[in-house]
Amino acid sequence: MERDEFNAGLLDFLDRSPSPYHAVAQMAARLGDRGFVRLAERDSWSLKPVGSYMVVRGGSLVAFHTGSAEYLEAGLRMVGAHTDSPCLKVKPLPDLCSAHSRQLAVEVYGGALLAPWFDRDLSLAGRVTLEDQRGQLFSRLVDFQRPVAQIPSLAIHLDRQANENRTIDRQRDLNLVLASDCEPFASLLLQRLREQHADLPKSRIHAWDISAYDTQPAALIGVRGEYLTSARLDNLLSCYAGMQALLACDRRQPTLLVCNDHEEVGSRSATGADGSFLRDILERLCPGGSLPRVLARSLLVSADNAHALHPNYPQKHDGNHAPRLNGGPVLKVNANQRYATSDQSGALFRRFCDAAKVPMQTFVARNDLACGSTIGPLVAAGLGVATADVGCPQWGMHSVRETAGADDAHLLHRALTVFYNCVAPPAVAAESAP
Ligand code: ZN
Repeated sequence: MERDEFNAGLLDFLDRSPSPYHAVAQMAARLGDRGFVRLAERDSWSLKPVGSYMVVRGGSLVAFHTGSAEYLEAGLRMVGAHTDSPCLKVKPLPDLCSAHSRQLAVEVYGGALLAPWFDRDLSLAGRVTLEDQRGQLFSRLVDFQRPVAQIPSLAIHLDRQANENRTIDRQRDLNLVLASDCEPFASLLLQRLREQHADLPKSRIHAWDISAYDTQPAALIGVRGEYLTSARLDNLLSCYAGMQALLACDRRQPTLLVCNDHEEVGSRSATGADGSFLRDILERLCPGGSLPRVLARSLLVSADNAHALHPNYPQKHDGNHAPRLNGGPVLKVNANQRYATSDQSGALFRRFCDAAKVPMQTFVARNDLACGSTIGPLVAAGLGVATADVGCPQWGMHSVRETAGADDAHLLHRALTVFYNCVAPPAVAAESAP
């Protein structure tokens, strides 16, 4: 697939995925259209060779090709990413009424950069759990789709120091303004659900997991369209690159994509990368105690965006390890194991990039700055699988509007496709003679 077609699909995916649940639904629909069979964890499975399957758990998804090769011979080629992004989540009892405005109280999810959330045309999306008249609980996705809320800034005239030292009080300053009357949020939500789901039975709402999002669509910007800008590039960009690689690969090798929720809050949950989801699937793929032997021949490429060199703040990067936008995917290295890349897994990823004719960059954080982390070290530690942490460079990580290079997601997808197609058991290829 050429870059422009790839980017058009990526922009569409970003706009249709305002929450992890929506991202997973989008991926499941696209994979389903291309022959992936959806499995339920509660069922017993009979998997066919050269079959394509997917499993959804909450805001997380695993999709895989069983391939035509024996797992014990071939090992597994795995790509990991995360579906969640820092955001503002609607509290369980959110209704506030102040100064003739219906406001919604929110909880900050993850390490959000909060200032960019002010004065944005916000909407709301997520999952709602309801009870029908027979007492049955069920869940539905909801998305208001149009701008319905805002966090208005305080005018400069009322705070002359705003440009010098305005701090954000997370409890006081972030309440969303939703309406000029005081109708309860739950009744507005039920109306929206009825609009979106014509088949919704008579029911009442019990609970929700709903977040605010910016309605400005994803776009290509820059005089020559060289930048790609959107909310949630970290890390839906990697989910999309991984999914397109899974769709583009030749399906001969055992290959897998895992996209986890809750990375931004530490991954320790039933659907997070520090939970059981991936292991539970792998144990069903590799029964009879064979999993450790399969994993010894496997490789995980953990794809999550990296900090690109920022033109206003070049001093924030180490000079030799400062990736630039449109310079290709980044290998992330950290001696203190905040990234799981080793010399061996890094060398393997470089070879996949070489084979795909994709340029590759390397990131190491400055010694006086802490770097972030990814699902890589957690999955590597949990499974004992060789792992490379990689990702596309971007600016403004954890802002409500992030910017990446227009070339890089497509380049990452090409390198991941080569990885999925590689014939030699990947980890074995890295074994060095003593
Ligand atoms: Zn991330």
